[in-house]
Amino acid sequence: MLALRRWSVRHAAFQARAYRMLLALLGALRPAFKAIGYARAEKPAAWVESNVKGLFFDCHMCGYCLLSVNGMACPMNCPKSVRNGPCGGVRPDGGCEAKPQMQCVWVEGWRGMQRMPGAAFPRLPNPPASARHAGTSSWMRLARGEHTPPPISGAPATTTDSRLERLLRAGEFVVTAEFSPPDSADPADVSAQLGHFRDHVDAINVTDGSGANCHMSSLGVSALLVQAGCEPVTQISCRDRNRIAIQGDILGAAALGIRNLLCLTGDGTTVGDHADAKPVFDLDSMSLLQAARVMRDEGRFLSGRKIIQPPRLFLGGADNPFVPPFDMRPLRLARKIAAGAQFVQTQYCFDLDRLEAYMAQVRDEGLHERCHILIGVGPIASAKTARWLRTRVPGVHIPDAIVARLEGAENPRAEGRRICVELIQAIRGIRGVAGVHIMAPKQDDAIAGLVRDSGVLAARRPGRAREAAPSTP
Ligand code: SF4
Repeated sequence: MLALRRWSVRHAAFQARAYRMLLALLGALRPAFKAIGYARAEKPAAWVESNVKGLFFDCHMCGYCLLSVNGMACPMNCPKSVRNGPCGGVRPDGGCEAKPQMQCVWVEGWRGMQRMPGAAFPRLPNPPASARHAGTSSWMRLARGEHTPPPISGAPATTTDSRLERLLRAGEFVVTAEFSPPDSADPADVSAQLGHFRDHVDAINVTDGSGANCHMSSLGVSALLVQAGCEPVTQISCRDRNRIAIQGDILGAAALGIRNLLCLTGDGTTVGDHADAKPVFDLDSMSLLQAARVMRDEGRFLSGRKIIQPPRLFLGGADNPFVPPFDMRPLRLARKIAAGAQFVQTQYCFDLDRLEAYMAQVRDEGLHERCHILIGVGPIASAKTARWLRTRVPGVHIPDAIVARLEGAENPRAEGRRICVELIQAIRGIRGVAGVHIMAPKQDDAIAGLVRDSGVLAARRPGRAREAAPSTP
């Protein structure tokens, strides 16, 4: 099965020709289907389709086939059901984050697309899979003149009263930092941790079961941060909730005074402390962004039902320029922007050359003018931690030179912080970068020093953000 799946990608040009012939055949058979009745033809068509496509593509009969827009690799083989991949966890050899023994289906698809003459990476996001259409025939949908449903489009982004958004629109270089919620139900534990963030950063990202581990919820901590007069960025991951729960949480977040939302697909359940949990992944990060944008800009749920008071949220997503396929990453960012991302925060950056190459492509496409790009940074405590991170945490790329520098340092923890300060200062100078996002798990006490020593906020003109007239990015 796997061998045939790989063969299909290797022969994507042939498969694309076969697909075009199939389209023509289905068009020609339309009168016959009409005479028989589409409903009557559905069952045998689904049986044939499932067997043929099952053999060549390991097809899951999602009902909305994406083979032709993904280099003839079926995205339903993605363990996280990502319909707009690849996620940020692709391994250096193109292996899957969740199942390292297999190649990422989106990397395979990208290779397939290079072999398909005239194939272009779709600029608009694919809609989420529909549970109602699972098991039905895409061929019959083609015969009826339908294919994938049109991607959701939205009205231009409106401004919110997010302070983070105001600062970014004003052109300030911003600093955000990641807050890991406690394993506690006591708000005092949140307050105690908050001291390391308050007054040192512009906004505080609250993780949502990061690494698939259970902690106090992002929504709960964010609400406590709002009460404390801080600016949270609430992370919301698709791993644990379906579209009904997610849309409810979005309304709840806005009602609690939260103004920034970071939309994530989320880590697979197998990497965390609840490996037996059932992964949901009803949406992926891109369809989550679309859902939030539609709720905000069109005042409706994904079902079309009207929302009485739409949520006013500044929408963001994650990005990872440091894992393959590198050429595809800016194209995927463009897609994320089309889905609704107004800002993105990247995975850790330890490789400035890779970042420079990525930003050059981003600038060529003008993406930095449509989306605020914040680069992830963080202090590493030792060479051992660096090795652990790059082997055990998918999506983290740390060059050997950084590991060697930590190895040779007398005080590796201080050296890790020095490296981080140097990186922040260098990133500050890259055109198109809007800020940095500090991730310092178990080193919250380092955040104030990193911001102070890098001097990135020292140059901020007082009051400028307040004076800035809001405009659409
Ligand atoms: S690397 Fe990510 S997107 Fe690719 S197949 Fe694995 S989980 Fe899916």
